[in-house]
Amino acid sequence: MGELHGVRIHITGVVQGVGFRPFVYGLAKKLELNGWVRNTSAGVDIEVDGEQDILDAFVKSLRDEAPPLSRIDELTASFQAPNGFRSFDIVHSEAVEGAFQPISPDVSICPDCLHELYDPSDRRYRYPFINCTNCGPRFTIIKDIPYDRPKTTMAPFAMCPDCEKEYTDPLDRRFHAQPVACPVCGPKIWIEYVGAQHAVPNLEEDYAVQKTREMLMDGQILAIKGLGGFHLACDATNSAAVTELRDRKLRVDKPFALMMLDVETVEKHCHVDEAERELLESSARPIVLLNRKPDSPIAKECAPGQDTLGVMLPYTPLHYLLLEKSEEFPDALVMTSGNLSEEPIATDNEEARERLASLADAFLMHNRDIHVRCDDSVVRIMKNGPLTVGHKTPSTIHRPPWVYPIRRSRGYSPFPVKLPFEAPPLLAVGPELKNTFCITNKNYAFLSHHIGDMENYETLQSFEQGIEHFEKLFRVQPEAIAYDLHPNYLATRYALQRAEQDDLPTTGIQHHHAHIAACMAEHGLDGSQPVIGLAFDGTGYGEDGEIWGGEVLVADYKSYERAFHLEYFPLPGGDAAIKKPARTALALLWSLGLDWDDSLAPVAEFCAEDRTTLRTQLEKKINTPMTSSMGRLFDAAAALAEVRQSVNYEAQAAIEYEVLADPDEYGMYPFKWEQDEACPERSRRIQIRSAVDALIADVLASVPAPVISAKFHNGLAQLALEICQNLRVVNNINEVALSGGVWQNITLLRRTLSLLQDDGFVVYIHHQVPTNDGGLSLGQAAIAASRLRDSKGLREASLERNKGNKDL
Ligand SMILES: [Zn+2]
Ligand SMILES: [Zn+2]
Repeated sequence: MGELHGVRIHITGVVQGVGFRPFVYGLAKKLELNGWVRNTSAGVDIEVDGEQDILDAFVKSLRDEAPPLSRIDELTASFQAPNGFRSFDIVHSEAVEGAFQPISPDVSICPDCLHELYDPSDRRYRYPFINCTNCGPRFTIIKDIPYDRPKTTMAPFAMCPDCEKEYTDPLDRRFHAQPVACPVCGPKIWIEYVGAQHAVPNLEEDYAVQKTREMLMDGQILAIKGLGGFHLACDATNSAAVTELRDRKLRVDKPFALMMLDVETVEKHCHVDEAERELLESSARPIVLLNRKPDSPIAKECAPGQDTLGVMLPYTPLHYLLLEKSEEFPDALVMTSGNLSEEPIATDNEEARERLASLADAFLMHNRDIHVRCDDSVVRIMKNGPLTVGHKTPSTIHRPPWVYPIRRSRGYSPFPVKLPFEAPPLLAVGPELKNTFCITNKNYAFLSHHIGDMENYETLQSFEQGIEHFEKLFRVQPEAIAYDLHPNYLATRYALQRAEQDDLPTTGIQHHHAHIAACMAEHGLDGSQPVIGLAFDGTGYGEDGEIWGGEVLVADYKSYERAFHLEYFPLPGGDAAIKKPARTALALLWSLGLDWDDSLAPVAEFCAEDRTTLRTQLEKKINTPMTSSMGRLFDAAAALAEVRQSVNYEAQAAIEYEVLADPDEYGMYPFKWEQDEACPERSRRIQIRSAVDALIADVLASVPAPVISAKFHNGLAQLALEICQNLRVVNNINEVALSGGVWQNITLLRRTLSLLQDDGFVVYIHHQVPTNDGGLSLGQAAIAASRLRDSKGLREASLERNKGNKDL
């Protein structure tokens, strides 16, 4: 036997709740090493004794063979004298003051557990809460770290001897699986009929599942408690049921998410390619936007006016039981968030009984508490094949399809985004709509789950609780707070109040600067070189107090220059105009000096009297901010192209306009630009007139809407190219970042990307956080970190800024 040495290993990353200690235990046993492993609130610590070459092999295997759900960020090994260990043990967790470590997102049921779920000889046969170290709830049940059962919502369930045995056996798949449970000792499900909620529930195995399935087949609506909240479910092939759900939920056209049993079923209704299949089956189990097949029997009412369906696979054992294949059971269920219109998703049983009683016919309940509300994530796969625009040769640049997040929440949050630099502890509060917030520490940016639109008290509450929870979980005491410049955003108000209360410096960040910075940060750009940022967006507060959204910035983290912007046009009624694209179209025509021609669809929307009122409002500038928003230009164009005059959800007109675009049309409407002398920083103004003239001429000549839509998209893509070419010459920049809500428009994105890449630009597109406002807080955090790093005077600068804000 060779000479003994000792080694002490410290590992950080996602290493708790993912089977890491059993893995270390098994590895140590295999190599016959003695010592111990333990969780700490900072990661995992290991000490072992052994011969040098075996210790080296041990360290190598720790990296190479780590469990699938783990992610090692850092592994340090320091060799020392041997300790004389006689066995290998898993020892008790130790809390390290002030330390933090990443927490695993919730993980969909694993193949082993799924197999047991269907195995009649298994003691967990058909048990809706089956899980192991490789799967199950995590983030939504964790109250504090280190991740141990007493600090989760599983604390009230005392393990039975059988579960205890598995939990304490280092060679068992359930060793230290904190949510481990079985029918004897674990959570239960039951069904409650609305109006009879106080009846004693039937807890018999499977009773609730079978009743729920019967009611769904009968066209009824069920509120089903899940992992991160309640879903409202109904048969997606039953038009009447889907329509009834829309009526009750007060949700007119906005698409509903669907759940289907497996990819084979999904393929009956949607086109699914390899990358999409992989994403559907990934352990995050997001809602994936897929192109629907025209002959699918899924009710049109699930996603009116769209050519895509949002589909997810089951991710909990309960979902698998509910969707089990049978002849009568439908292929797909609507599984939409359990809430009324824009309220946050319900999580608590009592809360659900109150809030959802008018929406559902019955509740499928369970008694494992949800500590963090977490909506389903929404993702699409961006494909980059050969494309043609304006008769150019097809793009020769190919890259593999990549993930394009629309909403980053369950399954992804609170997995951190790695920052390209060290950040101090910061809080970035995010925007008003699609809110997420972000806290940073060192190289990590912890983006929150989807908080939602901050339009009501419940969402604001959820936002404040979320921040409190994140600061506790990740042991972050913010040293500064970043916020959006919009003075009326509830998140901004929270930031300023909190800063005053805790005496913290703040920094206000322009909305589109934050968008571009978010894209830079997730691509690991350190900010030493500026990029061309194409921030095409709906609404963001501008430095001049107007509504920006068609912005071309030359930006790094510290600052930006507004190099180009869409020419301003009036938005009568401000945010109210967003609901009525016809109104925006008329305002645009008025500002361009074009006639309100009766034969134009948006003009015909208004009677003579309303036109007079609108004209007066425009002339006298009554409640009429100016906007450079690309989103509003899309609205106006969609209205002029006779696509839609009023909308029932954000960006509906633009989405339906995009769906129409003829893929074989290469023509384009011309956009131009001019020097804006009035603008102090000499930002150049993108002129809309020539494009709108050409569009109207086509409409009046009865050119089909798909051609008009394609020419509009092509014109904007060409404009993006020409602007970037101009800035490449002037500023010597070849890197372009695309961010802002308008880039959810895949037609515009693909065409622009193709043109830019063909011309040799390096183009950055989101793939970790959404391009819409859901990713904004990451950019705010990156900018704030940079400002804090570069100027010790942030406190002073911020005090100035706060003074300024009080005047707004
Ligand atoms: Zn499992
Ligand atoms: Zn048990």
